Amino acid sequence: MGKISCEIIKDLLPLYYDEVCSVESVRLVEEHLAECQSCRLELDKIKANISLPQEVVAKNYSEGDAIKGVAALWKRSKVKAFVIGLLGAALLFGGYVGLFQWEIMKVSAGVVEISNLSKLSNGIIVYQAKLTDGYNLNTIKYDMDEYGNFYLTPVRPIVKTKNKFYKELNNTYQRFDHERLVYKEKYGDDAEIEALYFRTSGEDILIWKKGMDLPAASDEVEAKFRSE
Ligand SMILES: [Zn+2]
Repeated sequence: MGKISCEIIKDLLPLYYDEVCSVESVRLVEEHLAECQSCRLELDKIKANISLPQEVVAKNYSEGDAIKGVAALWKRSKVKAFVIGLLGAALLFGGYVGLFQWEIMKVSAGVVEISNLSKLSNGIIVYQAKLTDGYNLNTIKYDMDEYGNFYLTPVRPIVKTKNKFYKELNNTYQRFDHERLVYKEKYGDDAEIEALYFRTSGEDILIWKKGMDLPAASDEVEAKFRSE
């Protein structure tokens, strides 16, 4: 096959990103990416997230059956993607973006594991966070109120994927640091967070609250944050 246009490659990139392309398509995309900076940038954009207008998300949210329909179509087309051809993939793109990229699903409380809450020598609180079901996370949203409560909400697309590119709470250490700045930005320099939670679909899981007695971070953890 000869040269493929950027437009077709850009339609395929989200599929490529989620590793659901046929072998043949993967080869085409990779050959193209090797030579085309514009498409490499496009892939970076996909990795960095696609966001859609809120009203579209809300509309889709209320159309559960429509989503199922698209999902079934998607499943079939995945098998036959190359047979249907590149045009088919392009037509699916709209539904595809909705299912795989919109950030609207909260995770359930049962899969969140918080551990090793401790304090670095510089006073910053750190903890380990893990989503135990192994699925990917799109992003973490911030919510807060004037009573000092700060909520971290991990969110996912409607169709969960296990791809290797994007943010996972894969037992990584988190700093409780940036949130304080965000809070002050909203409620003023004197405002302090009193409690930090993970917000899930079922309940809010307390990570930290003011007055908690925290152990000093281990040397290993200190070293980890020093090198960052
Ligand atoms: Zn290109």
